[in-house]
Amino acid sequence: MEHVAIVPVPPKDTKFKNGVWLFPTEVESEIATLAAICHVKQQQRGPLRTATGAKRDDWSDDAELSSDDESASICAAVITTEETLSTKMSFLDRLAEILCTKKHAHYVTCTSMITYPDKVTVLAARNASWTDADVRLLDDVATIMEQIASRGTFDMDPMPGMRKKLANHYIPRLKYHVQSLLKQLERHDVIAGFARDCRGFQSGTVSALALVELADRVSSSQAANMQITTSYDDGASSRILSDIQCIRRPLLTCDALYDAARRVDGFQQLQFLLLTGYKAKEATPCTSPSSGPLNELVECQLAKPKWVHAEIRMITYLLNYDGARDAFRYLGISKKTCFLCGHIIQKLGNFNTRGNHGKIYSQWTIPSALELRDKKIETWELTIKYLQDVLQSEATRKELPHLQAVKESTVTTPVAPQIERSNVFTSHIPDPRLRERESTWLSSFSMRDISE
Ligand SMILES: [Zn+2]
Repeated sequence: MEHVAIVPVPPKDTKFKNGVWLFPTEVESEIATLAAICHVKQQQRGPLRTATGAKRDDWSDDAELSSDDESASICAAVITTEETLSTKMSFLDRLAEILCTKKHAHYVTCTSMITYPDKVTVLAARNASWTDADVRLLDDVATIMEQIASRGTFDMDPMPGMRKKLANHYIPRLKYHVQSLLKQLERHDVIAGFARDCRGFQSGTVSALALVELADRVSSSQAANMQITTSYDDGASSRILSDIQCIRRPLLTCDALYDAARRVDGFQQLQFLLLTGYKAKEATPCTSPSSGPLNELVECQLAKPKWVHAEIRMITYLLNYDGARDAFRYLGISKKTCFLCGHIIQKLGNFNTRGNHGKIYSQWTIPSALELRDKKIETWELTIKYLQDVLQSEATRKELPHLQAVKESTVTTPVAPQIERSNVFTSHIPDPRLRERESTWLSSFSMRDISE
């Protein structure tokens, strides 16, 4: 497939060309131990603020400073207009969602893009293996986006075919959301026609595309929304509306792909790089954590395998990627980031994401070895030191206010509780007249160059 390449993780015995950073065993043990202590004590912490905050119209899944002139001009070139900015962000988030084909942690997907005047490289990372079906789909997506971008003529409109491909690719997730939806819908007689179509999808008489299009119609029907919100309590109607939004995703993705190809320069030549995930690791407990002796629950969490999350796979790959200087400073993610990934992303300062759910996972880790240039080794070490400090302070906090669990999905609904009252943008730009332009905030950052 000419448009898609799979990038394996470097084997353990790789002889790296550049510098190498190795995760010191004692630091790995300390991070794992502190994360397990926090997880057991109270997994939910205050969600980190992100660039976009929890936007009501955002339907996603369950949250060394170098300011040389050259990188600054690249930054200005990347953030051209607010329209292009949101087109790119939407493209990355929708793509991450559609590649997260199963409701399972291993399928959580992170995307990023590097734009050049005449070509675009899109990267995607997840822990689940990339399949032939993923490669075929992305090869088709690239072919169609290239044609749209070069204003090519089509014998027939390619979009209906693309919608069908995306819907079929998303079938495992569609099945999950249909099942969850029907469980709720059988309690009351609401949107009965759609419930019938959902059962038809389960029995094979309604196609994936037909189901997705029906969900799209239900979601825009005020009458349907009214029926749901008046028949169910807030929690249940929120779940129903969220499932309907998830079922719509193939259509939203199709629109986002089309918009990106039309509005963003470079899509006339598109390549996908699919990063494979790291294997799970074991961590040795820290023998004398400063937070005191370990209890059974903490030991139980510590014994579980540790995973490198998709966001960490992506940013550590980009740290050493030659083209990363041109990377768009926003990562698409199929759900909100966790507390620890959020802190790493925030500390590195290269990227924004759409939300953080604030949970600390004991099964979290970073790669054991990274090929990094000298300056990057220093940056990475400072980041890990900062994370140790954050974890230390979270693990030993005396006052831990009870926090309501935050949904990891970024799907928000009109009845969902508003978690974040402000975001970094609103707190950073005090003048309300400027708040309408989030791109002002994004471009107010000095570019942190991650390529060198
Ligand atoms: Zn994470």
